Amino acid sequence: MNTKLLINGKLVAGKGAKEEVLDPATGQPLATVAEASPEQIVSAVSAAAKAFPAWSATVPKDRAALLLKVADRIESEATDYARLESQNCGKPYAAVMNDEIPAIVDVFRFFAGAARTMHGAVAGEYLPGFTSMIRRDPVGVVASIAPWNYPLMMAAWKLSPALAGGNTVVLKPSEQTPITALRLATLLAELFPPGVVNIIHGRGPTVGASLISQPQVAMVSLTGDVSTGEKVLQAAAKGAKRTHLELGGKAPVIVFDDADREAVVSGVRTFGFYNAGQDCTAACRIYAGPKIYDKLVADLTSAASSIKVGKQDEEGVEMGPLISAKQRSRVAGFVNRADKSRHIEITTGGKARSGGGFFFEPTVIAGARQSDEIVRREVFGPVVSVTRFKDADQAIEWANDSDYGLASSVWTNDVGKAMRVAARLQYGCTWINTHFMLISEMPHGGLKRSGYGKDLSMYALEDYTVPRHVMVKL
Ligand code: NAD
Repeated sequence: MNTKLLINGKLVAGKGAKEEVLDPATGQPLATVAEASPEQIVSAVSAAAKAFPAWSATVPKDRAALLLKVADRIESEATDYARLESQNCGKPYAAVMNDEIPAIVDVFRFFAGAARTMHGAVAGEYLPGFTSMIRRDPVGVVASIAPWNYPLMMAAWKLSPALAGGNTVVLKPSEQTPITALRLATLLAELFPPGVVNIIHGRGPTVGASLISQPQVAMVSLTGDVSTGEKVLQAAAKGAKRTHLELGGKAPVIVFDDADREAVVSGVRTFGFYNAGQDCTAACRIYAGPKIYDKLVADLTSAASSIKVGKQDEEGVEMGPLISAKQRSRVAGFVNRADKSRHIEITTGGKARSGGGFFFEPTVIAGARQSDEIVRREVFGPVVSVTRFKDADQAIEWANDSDYGLASSVWTNDVGKAMRVAARLQYGCTWINTHFMLISEMPHGGLKRSGYGKDLSMYALEDYTVPRHVMVKL
């Protein structure tokens, strides 16, 4: 297991404080990783700035070739990456291996192709005697800061469009889950010229804050909590740095009376509890029509209670623990406060599991009202609330009545109704009769406090490049 950082093409031990990284399924230490010292943060950014002129002058074909090599190597070493990711996050090994790794490999391959096919406005004469053209050029040094819920995937989402676009990068994974990014560092050290990619480790308020405040950083990309996004914006204001923010979510799931109930239950069982609900698009805020409500609550309750919770390698395990003791008590806090409301019923789950590890039972909360905390705030745990609505207008109004605007879904057999509702939802993504399906070709990103950066797709490549005007006097 690599615990060294990648700075200027070399794997080096961190010279800052030593941090324990845990296995959330046991609560026991998995590794000790030393943070980057203040001097190492400066070195990583300086290396990225020094590497920028040569890297940004490479042709897309050459950048694509390297990204394809990264994809091939992750694919051929998939079991090692999946093993480390599942140990560091507590995720079921099979879920990482079968769901996450193929998606990660595909992201590197997508941006390898995207780098070569970027297109834009026509060149032409807009003043007689002058030709204008648009170039899309890299921004410079990008500081990328990632969360703990999908560590390697978030590294892939951040590194691949930035590098494809010709930027150099300093990536800081979450201090809780650095292990797969550090493994990736060993591969990147082998493939990329020194300084093009740097990976450092450390806590947000110290190492993260210092990284984004370095004068040579031209852009900050963060996936994280809304409050962290606000801090990043304040820091980025000094130096007027570009920002790319992907923040939290509280996805509404609108279920009309004519929906296929079995499909809804199976969808929420999967997409509400995947990754123990630690997902910014989790199907967690259900609005059910007046006629389907009772049966939906009953079916969801038995579906959620049938989810097999356990350690990474347990036979048939579907859901692992939460990331930390802190996160588990945060989730328990939401559930306990909801439980105090007389109109709310916890129909299954609601408790931490005894024994080691940070497990929490899959939980369904029925009878929730629009004004309840459990409907309004992001829980980031295996907790789904169900609220009854009276008609489509009310469902849309409640769905939009949220600080968040990342993902949503609509479930109905009437395609016209689905399209009318989708058109009125203020969310970066609306799925119809499904949820949580991400593909490399389509953008992922939010509105409102969910942020405004787009990951995946050509839109991400645009976010990591700047349109420039070049004019020639004829
Ligand atoms: P977090 O905001 O606590 O941490 C995210 C990252 O920011 C970490 O690497 C952390 O070290 C760093 N950080 C914290 N404070 C910082 C500071 N002052 N300056 C610089 N860096 C700082 O989030 P988390 O708990 O790791 O992840 C959960 C959150 O991420 C949830 O709110 C979730 O919704 C969100 N998320 C969003 C998306 C999306 O695509 N929109 C995807 C995954 C997670």
